[in-house]
Amino acid sequence: MQIRSYKYRLRPSRAQVALLDAMLRDFGGLYNAGLQQRIEAYRRRKLSLRYGHQAGELKACRAVDPDGLGRWSFSALQQVLRRLDQTYTAFFKRRRGFPRFRASARFHSATFRVGDGLTIRKDRRLGIVGVPGGVKVVWHRDLPQDAKLGTAILTRQQGKWYVVLSVEAAFAETCGTGTVGIDLGLNSLIATSDGETVAMPRFARRAQKAQRRRQRALARCQRGSKRRLKAKACLAAGSARIARQRRDHLHKLSRSLVSRYRGIAFEDLNMAGLTKGMLARSVHDAAWSLLVQLVQFKAESAGADVVMVDPRGTSQTCPTCGTIKAKTLAERRHRCECGTDLDRDVAAARIVHQRAFGSGRDIGLRRSSQRIAA
Ligand SMILES: [Zn+2]
Repeated sequence: MQIRSYKYRLRPSRAQVALLDAMLRDFGGLYNAGLQQRIEAYRRRKLSLRYGHQAGELKACRAVDPDGLGRWSFSALQQVLRRLDQTYTAFFKRRRGFPRFRASARFHSATFRVGDGLTIRKDRRLGIVGVPGGVKVVWHRDLPQDAKLGTAILTRQQGKWYVVLSVEAAFAETCGTGTVGIDLGLNSLIATSDGETVAMPRFARRAQKAQRRRQRALARCQRGSKRRLKAKACLAAGSARIARQRRDHLHKLSRSLVSRYRGIAFEDLNMAGLTKGMLARSVHDAAWSLLVQLVQFKAESAGADVVMVDPRGTSQTCPTCGTIKAKTLAERRHRCECGTDLDRDVAAARIVHQRAFGSGRDIGLRRSSQRIAA
């Protein structure tokens, strides 16, 4: 059995949003009150309060505040105090700073146990204690058949609501057969040794253009003005959208690679720094490292292998005869005297493949260091 997170977008009604906001505000208030109590208990009586002490008082707190704390799930309130307790423990283990008071507007999530304070109703809506009517969920993918649900985290991100369900199930993914080498393309997002190239999705380029426009709009606004705040929020929402879309696209790409291959080789770009000497690589790089991460994760549960190879010279070597042939960045094809004529990124991907899995033809490059990803 394995535990994984499934995240779904929620579509609460306007009235429900008001209640959810109020809930997080109350939870934030409880967190702060709990922190205050701990600090004062220590200052006045040298007492270190524990979770048990504080949770013991919850019942009374709810009873005197039926329109506030009394509205919400008891176990979710316990979770707030538990969270405070964890921050304390982390502080005393010197892993974190002393817990801070949190502005309630910055308290963005609440933890529930599924079936206790938060349920998935027969009509597939979320039932949340204190929020009448059931909250609509966008079930963009199904939960696994035999899923056992653990916790549910309700979060607010840039004004949007999500639920993250932790799911325990026997995930039975399988991988494909065969092996592939993958090159971080100059012209495309990736190229594979099988000759496939995957372009940077069009929406990403369009979104980037829009983002630059928003940046300029922000720059024109006067410091401290309302307009500037608005422009800033707009910019932040834009970057969040781009990150979401990129993640989604890379999830699908990595899934498709793992389901087709058993051995997948990448260039280890951490090993030799920037090898291809391009300036506008930051966007590409971010996508690349996320892709490698996702493939590694999916490969692990599907029983596929990921191999990282030395990236030096991949774009300069002929995959057929092994001749080193320097290319300028402008040259988009690999043409060699031996008759090989390939897309330059596909040629590089073949070298990556050979370094990882060999090719029967030893061309002296496999000496270069190689490591198997954990
Ligand atoms: Zn050649």
